[in-house]
Amino acid sequence: MTAQSERLTGTVTWYSRKKGFGFVAPDQGSKDIFLHHTALPQDVDAPINTGDRITFTLGQSKKGPIATEISMLTDRVSPRSAPRPTASPMTDYTVDSTITRFADLPLGDDLLRAVQDAGYTEPTPIQAQAIPHVFNGRDLLGCAQTGTGKTAAFALPILQRLADTLPADAGQSRNGSKNGSRPDSRKKAAARPIRVLVLSPTRELAIQIGDSFSTYGRHTGLTNTVIFGGVKQGSQVQALKRGVDVLVATPGRLLDLMGQGVVKLDRVEVLVLDEADRMLDMGFIRDVRRIIKAVPTQRQTLLFSATLPAEIVELADNILINPLEVAIEPEQPTIEAIEQAVYFVPKKQKQALLEHVLHDSAVTRVLVFTRTKHGANKVVKRLTSAGINAEPIHGNKSQAARQSALKSFRDGSTRVLVATDVVARGIDVEDISHVIQFDLPNEPETYIHRIGRTGRAGAAGIAVSFCAADEQPYLRDIEKLIRMRVPVQQNHPFSA
Ligand code: AMP
Repeated sequence: MTAQSERLTGTVTWYSRKKGFGFVAPDQGSKDIFLHHTALPQDVDAPINTGDRITFTLGQSKKGPIATEISMLTDRVSPRSAPRPTASPMTDYTVDSTITRFADLPLGDDLLRAVQDAGYTEPTPIQAQAIPHVFNGRDLLGCAQTGTGKTAAFALPILQRLADTLPADAGQSRNGSKNGSRPDSRKKAAARPIRVLVLSPTRELAIQIGDSFSTYGRHTGLTNTVIFGGVKQGSQVQALKRGVDVLVATPGRLLDLMGQGVVKLDRVEVLVLDEADRMLDMGFIRDVRRIIKAVPTQRQTLLFSATLPAEIVELADNILINPLEVAIEPEQPTIEAIEQAVYFVPKKQKQALLEHVLHDSAVTRVLVFTRTKHGANKVVKRLTSAGINAEPIHGNKSQAARQSALKSFRDGSTRVLVATDVVARGIDVEDISHVIQFDLPNEPETYIHRIGRTGRAGAAGIAVSFCAADEQPYLRDIEKLIRMRVPVQQNHPFSA
């Protein structure tokens, strides 16, 4: 090991006493540096903790850079990574990288009970990695898609922090208001301030996030509400006036209500941006920036994005302070565990082929993708006249229609949901037996997103694609991206 002379300063991002090692985030650089207990000063009686400020010399080991000759700095918590004053946790939780049980995470009984009720037996990788740090107040950049358990990765530690640090002037009694329900109607003090703001690109995702907060927070007495456009604002305004701890919102409606003075964000302690890349795709990024300006700068910020285009990296650089970066590769059931097949078929015969495929009783819950909203309506109309139970879901449908279509698809009363891409992404429906691409997408990444809707949670899924002559270039691009040939289904009555 060759020590260089330069002394650096940094903050311990985590340290495992059991293992005797950890990492330090140097103030002068971006990558965390390994530290081993043998480099700690002999005279520290209290072992090193997450959040400790240290100085050290940068050394080099076989495995990469390492902190040597460590000394403690007096300010134990760095202003760059300090838990924000308004939401500081009761105790600084020491992060241990070997966590495999929820009980080993910094979660109290109320949350552990809710997690157990939800049937979760062990934390997913993003939960094990993120929960301790989010609980400690650290900013987070999470590269993870829906399906990785990312919602609980932020909702659980946030709820724990809120429960631990209820402001003295909270309007209603914690016990008197059930999560998501109408609070105690006795004469009340000032309504509870919004302490957590979660921004979501779509209504569907916002509702799912709100449901998750309700599920995980059900024994805590903390409240949440969800606001989104496309519906009347009356009941949303009422919920806001009653006061909520957690607000989940789509950007457009939130800005509207901020403009009307109905929403006040001056007490927000934690800001979460979910599916940031999607917000960018949907043209919300300026709205998001405006909303961020209305939130106190003293806050914890968590940003999740499946991909990291330049604009998101820039946004992250501007709004995150010394973030923990967690990247969860999307599980690869997409390619490996999914049985793929392509049917070559003349465009005009696609509908007949779809009905043929749907005659197979193994096709129990199927998501069909069309390129356009009009196409989705047409497919549903024809399936319905052929006696097949189907519903469309796309951006032209009212919120109520989308919710009801999703509900019947989830509970099995609708077997076939015909969707366009914008709406389908982020929808969390389990046990989809088949994904059928009625039209092939012109962006090959979309193919992977679509087939990833089936075969979730380790179950095998089947992805069928229809390819007309003019779609063959799309298929070639897809095969290049997934680095395999999609097996061709030869035997069918409509082959081109
Ligand atoms: P998300 O990525 O947050 O959309 O979560 C995807 C799905 O995984 C949701 O249906 C969650 O209820 C479920 N889930 C989240 N965490 C766990 C866990 N630790 N064990 C089992 N299922 C989970």
